Amino acid sequence: MKIIKTIKEIHQLIISLQKEGKKIGFVPTMGALHEGHLSLVKSSVAENELTVVSVFVNPTQFNNKKDLEKYPRNFEQDFSLLSQNACDIVFAPSDNEMYPEKDKRIFDFGNLDKVMEGKHRPGHFNGVGQIVSKLFEAVPANSAYFGLKDFQQLAVIQEMVRQLKIDIKIVPCPIIREENGLAMSSRNELLTKEQRDEASFIFETLSEIKKLSATKSVEEIEAWGLAKIKEYKNFNLEYLEIVDNKTLNTVTNWQTGNGISACVAIFAGEVRLIDNIQIKD
Ligand code: AMP
Repeated sequence: MKIIKTIKEIHQLIISLQKEGKKIGFVPTMGALHEGHLSLVKSSVAENELTVVSVFVNPTQFNNKKDLEKYPRNFEQDFSLLSQNACDIVFAPSDNEMYPEKDKRIFDFGNLDKVMEGKHRPGHFNGVGQIVSKLFEAVPANSAYFGLKDFQQLAVIQEMVRQLKIDIKIVPCPIIREENGLAMSSRNELLTKEQRDEASFIFETLSEIKKLSATKSVEEIEAWGLAKIKEYKNFNLEYLEIVDNKTLNTVTNWQTGNGISACVAIFAGEVRLIDNIQIKD
């Protein structure tokens, strides 16, 4: 496994591999890797001749400085996990390499970055757009793998690729969960054992919402979900929204052609957890 730190070197290598006709898969990550990330790597390895994984904690997508400082970093372990999982190339640039000067890329994602995460994390998706567009320039792969765990991020990236006409296939991958149902996340490392155990209620609630959608209205389910989450005194709900899969607008009934998901953001102390479930596809 090759570890590359500069844009110039990775770009030249990818271009020369593509000239040889190699099919390349790309998995962008912020490190602190877990089975969720590795499932993306496995999909890329299965579907491509070469897999590139980037490990870069992107400062521009953190709207909260403390969150950026606390974000877990474990590069040596990441590299070893990637090498054990058949990754061919790791791209691990420095902040300076990705942002040599104040970056001015500004995106207009319409409604997609105004709701849910966008409403509560101002600037977050513009930061995601900045880094992912730069990474796609550095690593012009055939396909890029993203987790449905970050449901809204996936919608934003698909929109960015459409707007910038980037020639890359975006491959959505299912959410990988811990045994108790908690969606795997690098941030789970920051939870206490008690918080981690109790956080199983998040997926239980989402699963129940999906079940209830067969017999109850959106309004009834929202009220039920809010009351349920309130029962967990060690957690604070930021939002619970039932949205159209394409527009991300909240829905008022189950009739839409685009599919429907329930999305939540919940604080366990200072740790922010997000999760979602597809109710209708
Ligand atoms: P991150 O390092 O958090 O930026 O995540 C890198 C990629 O891994 C993103 O596409 C995430 O959606 C994906 N990912 C993170 N956690 C999971 C999970 N539990 N299941 C599937 N994909 C995930």
